Amino acid sequence: MAIEAAILEEIKKYQTIMIHRHQRPDPDCIGAQLALRDILRASFPDKKIFAVGKHYPGFDWMGQADQDVPDDAYHGALVIVVDTANQPRIDDERWSTGAAVIKIDHHPNDDAFGDIQWVLDQASSTSEIMYDWYAANQAELTLPDDAARLLYAGIIGDTGRFMYPATSANTFAVASKLLTYNFSMTDVNQAEDEISPAMARLSAYVYQNLEILPSGAAYLKLTDEIVESFGLSAKDSTSAVVPLPGKITTVVAWAIFVESKDKTFRIRLRSKGPSINELAKNHGGGGHALASGATAHDQAEIDQVVHELDELVANTKGENE
Ligand code: AMP
Repeated sequence: MAIEAAILEEIKKYQTIMIHRHQRPDPDCIGAQLALRDILRASFPDKKIFAVGKHYPGFDWMGQADQDVPDDAYHGALVIVVDTANQPRIDDERWSTGAAVIKIDHHPNDDAFGDIQWVLDQASSTSEIMYDWYAANQAELTLPDDAARLLYAGIIGDTGRFMYPATSANTFAVASKLLTYNFSMTDVNQAEDEISPAMARLSAYVYQNLEILPSGAAYLKLTDEIVESFGLSAKDSTSAVVPLPGKITTVVAWAIFVESKDKTFRIRLRSKGPSINELAKNHGGGGHALASGATAHDQAEIDQVVHELDELVANTKGENE
């Protein structure tokens, strides 16, 4: 049986379905998660379907996960984890207390968990995979307009508005089908593109202060003090500034080090060519070839990451020209 059909058959067996996503969610994981909840609620009105995850008001325009989900709802439930490569990154540790687990993801399958795994690491986004799952089973499923809006939001989020290399002919085909549903594409585009005045000023700081090495490696450290000086708090996501160095012609790969509550630094790595996920793995992280993350525990580790990035870009320069 094809994997798409096998997942549907598994869903049919359970009365309760809990859908989990990763910590620090982004539009793709929220889009795939809430769209799956909409599809399942519309298609199986007698089942109990929950989307689980911490509330982030900045994403209320997409919709909200179900808060206060009781622990006993997990007894005998099917758990579906979307867009999450590694078990420690799953938001809400109760995911492991259900009866069975399905993993649906587009990250490299470094941590192969789940009774059923559907991992397409070449796909642009989990939202694209989710639409393909619906399409393969559409005789038995309903896709509400709002689910189409959510999937479109997820796809443009993870492809950088169709710019990143994982964008494929299928990505455009899926987006084209989604646009036949009733929602405002321009509202979604605007919601994902807008930044606050404070974030605009932080963006200017990023451009002003980015260190660009002769190799094309670039880096910037964002301490709490710097972030707060723009009127932003540590709670505000700095995601909007992460892609900015890529707009600079001389930048090939870059790292933004963002201070965390525990004084370590979250490393956000991006690249236009050389694969940076092995570097991320060396520092306790991982991710895609061109977008990865890890943690630096102190300044010495930050210096080490910058050194490794510099070497990586310098050594792959010839290969990419
Ligand atoms: P981010 O910079 O947080 O948007 O992360 C980019 C990508 O790197 C994500 O899609 C994640 O798959 C991956 N990633 C980020 N942080 C980690 C981590 N600590 N461990 C493993 N993968 C990570």
